[in-house]
Amino acid sequence: MSWQARIEAALAQRLASDTFRRRRPLSQGAGRWLAQGERRWLNFSSNDYLGLSQHPQLIAAWQEGAVRYGVGSGGSGHVTGYSEAHEQFEQQLADWLGYPRALLFISGFAANQAVIAALMTDADRIVADRLSHASLLEAASHSPAQLRRFVHNDTAHLTQLLARPVSGQQLAVTEGVFSMDGDGAPLAAIADAARGAEAYLLVDDAHGIGVSGEEGRGSCWQQGIKPDLLVVTFGKAFGVSGAAVLCSDALADYLLQYARHLIYSTSMPPAQAVALSRALALIRGDEGEARRRALRQHIARFRDGASQLGLKLTGSESAIQPLIVGDNGRALALAEQLRARGCWLTAIRPPTVPAGTARLRITLTSAHEAQDIDRLLEVLHAAGE
Ligand SMILES: *Cc1c(COP(=O)(O)O)cnc(C)c1O
Repeated sequence: MSWQARIEAALAQRLASDTFRRRRPLSQGAGRWLAQGERRWLNFSSNDYLGLSQHPQLIAAWQEGAVRYGVGSGGSGHVTGYSEAHEQFEQQLADWLGYPRALLFISGFAANQAVIAALMTDADRIVADRLSHASLLEAASHSPAQLRRFVHNDTAHLTQLLARPVSGQQLAVTEGVFSMDGDGAPLAAIADAARGAEAYLLVDDAHGIGVSGEEGRGSCWQQGIKPDLLVVTFGKAFGVSGAAVLCSDALADYLLQYARHLIYSTSMPPAQAVALSRALALIRGDEGEARRRALRQHIARFRDGASQLGLKLTGSESAIQPLIVGDNGRALALAEQLRARGCWLTAIRPPTVPAGTARLRITLTSAHEAQDIDRLLEVLHAAGE
């Protein structure tokens, strides 16, 4: 098949199955509102759980950072791209989460790719929760290690897979809060299973960090575990972007030698690290606490209201509240109806989620007001009729 024929066939397949993705240029995408030109909608789609993306102090910190350091880092961290701002933020993160070291990456996707690629050999095995994020599963399937997936949150299955003979080492992989379902992992039991098999444990807490646990330290802190590798990302509750891996001194030094993303890629701008330090200070302080409280209240209000309306909720207690619709076309039509009534929601379809489980993925943020949640419920009610 020629290149052209192959690409056209792949596009036609997506169109035919209602899975063709389109982007929309927005004038605001995160926070309480989503705006496109002059129009705006209540935003129930962003991962800006604490509303920090629009915070004046973060905007000011980024500006100050740019004045101090310029707008770019000028190279990888091994050449010119590691600034005092990067070092300071890494130390603040390590201190906050109780780890010897933190290493910054430009994104969570990059961090997961880098860590898995740097650690795994063809003698090894990765045992990952089946619903792990695409960045983890893709890294695992590209790595030379064997990949086995355990049934979602099934610790017995994980234990069983880890017990099979292996000539090298094993890495157990899961998430603190799952991105499409919003449910949490039984982290203490998973950490026990990994320890029992002498496997390293990697927990990606993209959706838990900043949101749960004391001072927003996330799912692992909340459940009293300290995985060998903790991946946290800054595009969600931190309201910015970027990621970090928290680990031991030896692992950090190892990743600095062997993680190609840290060697051959320009590091994040120092000004971004300055803004992230500011975000961390807010998250740890009273303001973070107040924002987490507001978010919890919105989640409770949404769940109460939705169950009164007889809507089918999942068990999620996080800011991610999926309404499973099933059919792709119906999920798209519902999302369209909700938008027509001023609430922006996205329909999430396969292959992002398993076939037959297309859903409306509702995300709540502390930037919402109680009346926004009521409006969403009203509109969901009307669309369901
Ligand atoms: C969003 C997300 C990522 C990717 O992080 P980015 O910084 O957006 O690249 C990785 N893992 C999980 C679980 C996520 O939800």
